[in-house]
Amino acid sequence: MSKSDALPTQLIHHPYRPPGGFEAPQPAVHKASTVIFRDVAAMRARDWRSKAGYTYGLHGTPTTFLLEEHIATLEGGTACVLVPSGLAAIALVDQALLSQGDELLLPDNVYGPSAAFARHELARWGVTCRSYDPLDAASAAAAIGPKTRLMWIEPPGSVTMEFPDLTGLVAAARNRGVLTAVDNTWGAGIALRAFDAGVDIVMQALTKYPSGGGDVLMGSVVTRDAALHQRLKQAHMHLGLGVAGNDAEAILRGLPSLALRYAAQGDAGVVLARWLAGRPEVARVLHPALEGSPGHAHWRAHAQGAAGLFSVLLDERFSPAQVDAFVDSLRLFRIGYSWAGPRSLVVPYELASLREPAVLARQGLRGHLVRFSLGLEAVADLQADLAQALETLRA
Ligand SMILES: *Cc1c(COP(=O)(O)O)cnc(C)c1O
Repeated sequence: MSKSDALPTQLIHHPYRPPGGFEAPQPAVHKASTVIFRDVAAMRARDWRSKAGYTYGLHGTPTTFLLEEHIATLEGGTACVLVPSGLAAIALVDQALLSQGDELLLPDNVYGPSAAFARHELARWGVTCRSYDPLDAASAAAAIGPKTRLMWIEPPGSVTMEFPDLTGLVAAARNRGVLTAVDNTWGAGIALRAFDAGVDIVMQALTKYPSGGGDVLMGSVVTRDAALHQRLKQAHMHLGLGVAGNDAEAILRGLPSLALRYAAQGDAGVVLARWLAGRPEVARVLHPALEGSPGHAHWRAHAQGAAGLFSVLLDERFSPAQVDAFVDSLRLFRIGYSWAGPRSLVVPYELASLREPAVLARQGLRGHLVRFSLGLEAVADLQADLAQALETLRA
């Protein structure tokens, strides 16, 4: 910059640099599309594959690199890629690892949009998909064919909360050279260290527990194997995926309280699930930490704790309108998707929309399913709210 430069140029090329040495508990938010190179040689030597330098905002900033390292540590892996949502993380794994003619295995209780991605997008690219019973590793092994490349495992299954036979499933996949990917959104790296079970990839919707605020969407894909990470990183690059600095900082802000929030919401979930199990309106409680819940023995073998998330089956004798009235009459539990934020949430689901009739019959699932996710309100207030709403079912 020279004195004769015009004001717009002076404002942009201003010589002042803040002094170094500023340190605060919370990391800075770096936001960038452009990254400035020192000289042409540095620009030519750029490498988006490594964290040794910066190339373009989409490929990482100090803020997103820091979050990647934290999430890799949380999951017990070595490398992480970040994407704009949990669903994008699932789609990235599928797109990076599957090619035309390959087959994908999904548990029959998988997070719904994961199955929809396979059915509507992967199918168009010539990738087929089969489902397996996550409680029956032998049936999963039988579903593995010569074209099977990837098996998703979800501990526990979305909405109906069956905890899978993780040991049996991983063994079945390994025997046949099939990669395994765990959706660890429920375990959050706290209740479940999925790499300990021998899986290849651990994905998480950071939207849920790591955020904890109900205000950010993000997903992560963590690996321990460098070559596998490079395959994911390359697809991530080609798909133009990346996350914003403010969002990454919001997740970084959630991490220090993650274990405390997880424990508090998990404890509240167990208290309320046990209380609901004793209520006459409730036919069954689906919570992996409760005896009698599907997959409870597998939960016991693999998990240390549980998320504050469970479902109940209200008795068949109630009409759908009565169940809706029960949900509507809750005051602290608000109606909404997602979980792990400060507010408790509730969603009624139609069982028939979740599973094939044969699967429902096999697992003995009957009645009206309502899913609760615990926030951070006082447990006694949440219990009182449930009690007053259950009164509507007596009327
Ligand atoms: C919420 C969720 C996802 C998707 O996360 P988004 O960030 O909402 O896209 C994936 N898997 C599970 C188990 C989830 O609960």
